[in-house]
Amino acid sequence: MGYQGRFAPSPTGALHFGSLVAAVGSYLDAKHQQGQWLVRIEDLDTPRNVAGAADAILRTLENYGLYWDETVVYQSQRIHLYEVALEQLKKQQVCYPCVCSRKTIAAQQGEGVYSGRCRNGILSPTRQPAAWRLHIDDSIIRFTDRLQGDISQHLATKVGDFVIKRADGVFAYQLAVVVDDAAQGINHVVRGADLLDSTPRQIFLQHQLGLPTPCYLHLPLVVNAQGEKLSKQTLAQAISQQHPVATLYDALCFLQQHPPIELQHSDLTTLWDWAIAHWQPHAITHPA
Ligand code: GLU
Repeated sequence: MGYQGRFAPSPTGALHFGSLVAAVGSYLDAKHQQGQWLVRIEDLDTPRNVAGAADAILRTLENYGLYWDETVVYQSQRIHLYEVALEQLKKQQVCYPCVCSRKTIAAQQGEGVYSGRCRNGILSPTRQPAAWRLHIDDSIIRFTDRLQGDISQHLATKVGDFVIKRADGVFAYQLAVVVDDAAQGINHVVRGADLLDSTPRQIFLQHQLGLPTPCYLHLPLVVNAQGEKLSKQTLAQAISQQHPVATLYDALCFLQQHPPIELQHSDLTTLWDWAIAHWQPHAITHPA
């Protein structure tokens, strides 16, 4: 199969410059290699979804000339796929229900690593809804990121047994992303470096589910003047709908592609043609 990439926004707000950079980087990497670029709306975390945000994101992508291949998929319509994966993990006995409250967990641990308290069975019978955690092993997960280089993580000391389905019934991002990337035949993932730390968990899950591991490239994060990642929480502004060429030009500069100055006032097609032909991910030198 040829190159299959994707952009997977969560509909928690409008597209901001940080998410545009992830969209542009993943699109250029796919198109430079004559690949397909899919869009998947990651709308599982219903409490965080904002009504109308998914449509607004898609309209903005179109307005920027970011046209996707295939039909857009919505994770909220794919719950059955995550159920099948969870059943497989249950059958393999590599996951377990956990009724620890946030308070219990916080009291037991430092640095966000779950102690494994429910690993050998729920301690006291309870009617409280349970989360499902993946039982991790002692292995060190290693992979080579196309931009960040060799990465390794000892899951047991950095993350511990992590949640794959929350107690409120919502499937965790880590499980859904792995199932969907495989189901959609994604063989290249280009996304922001805030997810670099999640990648070992995703690779571990791929191994457990017998799924292939895509190639990863984590782009530098766009931060605001306070050094914070642009996000809804840090009140990142929506990108302009009126000036897509100028904003796309800025995104290419952020990605250190050095677009010629005369393209700053060109049309979208000309700018995209130049950017696709000249895409050089290795020109990006910012560390994660
Ligand atoms: N939905 C995630 C986000 O918006 C991105 C997931 C991914 O690219 O793996 O941060």
